[in-house]
Amino acid sequence: MNQSEIDQLKSLLTEPVNAVIVPHKNPDGDAMGSCLGLSHYLKAHGHNAVVIAPNDYPQFLKWIPGNDEVVIFEYNRMKALEIMEEADLIFTLDFNDLARTGEMENALKESSKTMVMIDHHQQPKDYAKFVYSDPEICSTSQMIYHFLEKLDDVSSISPQIATCLYVGIMTDTGSFRFASTTSTTHRVIADLIDKGANNSEIHINVYDNQSFNRLQLLGQALNNLKVIPEYHTAYIILSQDELNRYQFKKGDTEGVVNYALSVQGVKFALIFIEHRQEGIVKISLRSKCGFDVNQFARNHFNGGGHINAAGGRSNKSLEQTIEDFITILPKYKNDLKS
Ligand code: 5GP
Ligand code: MN
Repeated sequence: MNQSEIDQLKSLLTEPVNAVIVPHKNPDGDAMGSCLGLSHYLKAHGHNAVVIAPNDYPQFLKWIPGNDEVVIFEYNRMKALEIMEEADLIFTLDFNDLARTGEMENALKESSKTMVMIDHHQQPKDYAKFVYSDPEICSTSQMIYHFLEKLDDVSSISPQIATCLYVGIMTDTGSFRFASTTSTTHRVIADLIDKGANNSEIHINVYDNQSFNRLQLLGQALNNLKVIPEYHTAYIILSQDELNRYQFKKGDTEGVVNYALSVQGVKFALIFIEHRQEGIVKISLRSKCGFDVNQFARNHFNGGGHINAAGGRSNKSLEQTIEDFITILPKYKNDLKS
């Protein structure tokens, strides 16, 4: 986003606007944190702002300030469409392809409203008038902070905004440990704490508030872990029956793939999760070192993401998906060795 675009946006925001803010489908901490952070900012400046999420999100995010006012498209389609119709501006956060909004895709595609994309995924599509895209930045929530810097308005970050942005940065960086975490990230985080984010409380709300079933499911997942030393690869399979056994709820498997990545010598980790009702297998991919899981997910699993974290899906059975994966892997032997 260049200075002239910033100036245009600033001038659009001199009068009260109706803004809609949209995260990707299956919103995660960064998606909800960035959307709610921006919504508090806009509201504090006299605008109307509504976050419309394509579908529901995990319980461990349901305490974030402003959570109660989120409209879930999947449950409230009519209301969501009415709000979108009234909008002057639509912000799309933490994704860069309208296909990532699932059921909302058509409504967004057909909308003639001015769109603003703020996002850190690679290979952005060209649907927004204003684009702030930077795959180098760890999280969209950190980008919202920089966006407010561009608007010369960091000083108006309230404790609520600080809390939202902290959640997004913390969750997308694996609590500040992934390679995407920079000294700038830590400076932003320090400022968010100064502005009222309670770091310890936020951590407890997101991570230390787990159901017994979720931990048992994690135990099952760890039992299912397989390592292929030759390819520095580890993977976990969770079947629908196993999910049912531990009364799986949305979000219960988030972060589990990182255990596979934590195995000594492993550079490439995956989790395959069967969703029998939808007839798909969801796949999360992670890497350390330079192995590009965004490309792997794009090439083989209708997905994408970042170099070190991506997602995708397969329409085949769980067994067939794993078989395909095992067949594909040798093609990457050299990339996984280096
Ligand atoms: P997760 O494995 O946590 O679902 O996703 C990891 C990263 O990849 C996230 O940044 C997420 O936004 C992205 N991602 C997940 N699924 C998809 C997908 O189907 N397509 C694309 N382009 N990105 C995805
Ligand atoms: Mn993100």
